[in-house]
Amino acid sequence: MDDIYNLSKSELTNLLDHNGFPSYRADQIWRYLYKNYVINFEEMNNISKELINFLSEKFYIGNLEEVNKIISKDKSTYKSLLRLSDGNVVESVLMNYPSDDHRRPRKTICISSQVGCALGCTFCATGQQGFTRNLSSGEIISQIIHFIRLEKDNYFDSILENPDKSYKGIKNIVFMGMGEPLANYENTINSIKKLNSNLGLNFGARNITVSTVGLVPQILKLAQENIQINLAVSIHAPDNKTRSETVPINKRYPIEELIKSCNEYIRITNRKIFFEYVMLDGQNDTLDHAKNLGKLLSGMLCHVNLIPVNPTNDSEYQRSRRETIKAFQSKLGEYNVPSTVRMEKGIEVSAGCGQLAKSNFY
Ligand code: SAH
Ligand code: SF4
Repeated sequence: MDDIYNLSKSELTNLLDHNGFPSYRADQIWRYLYKNYVINFEEMNNISKELINFLSEKFYIGNLEEVNKIISKDKSTYKSLLRLSDGNVVESVLMNYPSDDHRRPRKTICISSQVGCALGCTFCATGQQGFTRNLSSGEIISQIIHFIRLEKDNYFDSILENPDKSYKGIKNIVFMGMGEPLANYENTINSIKKLNSNLGLNFGARNITVSTVGLVPQILKLAQENIQINLAVSIHAPDNKTRSETVPINKRYPIEELIKSCNEYIRITNRKIFFEYVMLDGQNDTLDHAKNLGKLLSGMLCHVNLIPVNPTNDSEYQRSRRETIKAFQSKLGEYNVPSTVRMEKGIEVSAGCGQLAKSNFY
């Protein structure tokens, strides 16, 4: 039996066609799955018994079981531990941003693409846990549907601080949870196509961000996909020596190649790249690092997010000091490289970037 969330719309249509069911049924089934978020096939009221039996023999609807949850003290962040059908678990996070001077209120979800990660960045809890397996595209989608169902039931209104009742729904999706999305390329892209489709969940591509540690061939491939998503590249250092100390994959795809692929991505897509830079005290945060990063990125269509490192169980890294971050940022400014310091949510409940791992709840 397969998870029906793994099917694309055309696969479902073909399957029905080959088995003597009218293809308009595919539209109805699709709506039940991606607009009504049904939990079982019996809820598909307009569908004949015969078709429901056919579907139930071949598929299940991949609901993820929330086996644990935790809410940050400031009630802005909700982290779910979700069990997959084979018993593995992943973490996914919902962040609630109340309205501020510039932006409307919004909810963002941060989802996982793999159980663990094989790439072993030294500051990252997921990397510390090692790699188990890729998620299917259905399992990626199911994380989103999990949160949409809760939101639809007004669940977060009573749980989170400052829920804006005038704005319902989840606005943004970031692939910044567990795993390297571009190491699970096909399933990531297929899930994005489903998210993006106006027949289904209808998320704007511009509201979807994929973060990669910098897999060069996949960045070049992504450039050809003709989807307007945001790409974030975890750069974390301006030179190979410093970068290889914390990001082992740099030995395979060194900075020169990475930057070349990013320039190519920008040339083809005309989209800005977001560079992520984890600020590690005494490791990558000197003015020299800032100067070299400024030189490296100067003139590129990009934005740098500086992220003071979040603590994890097995790493000793400390956050850079506030003044150090300020000085780093103004040095980047001298090279006309725009940057923002990202203030993370949910750190004390280990829901921040790089803190997701299967063991955090226990
Ligand atoms: N594998 C992808 C996406 C998941 S990690 C990637 O590496 O980009 C999402 C972001 O969290 C990355 O920029 C990653 O470098 C960052 N991150 C990892 N560990 C962190 C930590 N301890 N503190 C802050 N950010 C961290
Ligand atoms: Fe994997 Fe990204 Fe963590 Fe590195 S930072 S170990 S690539 S999840």
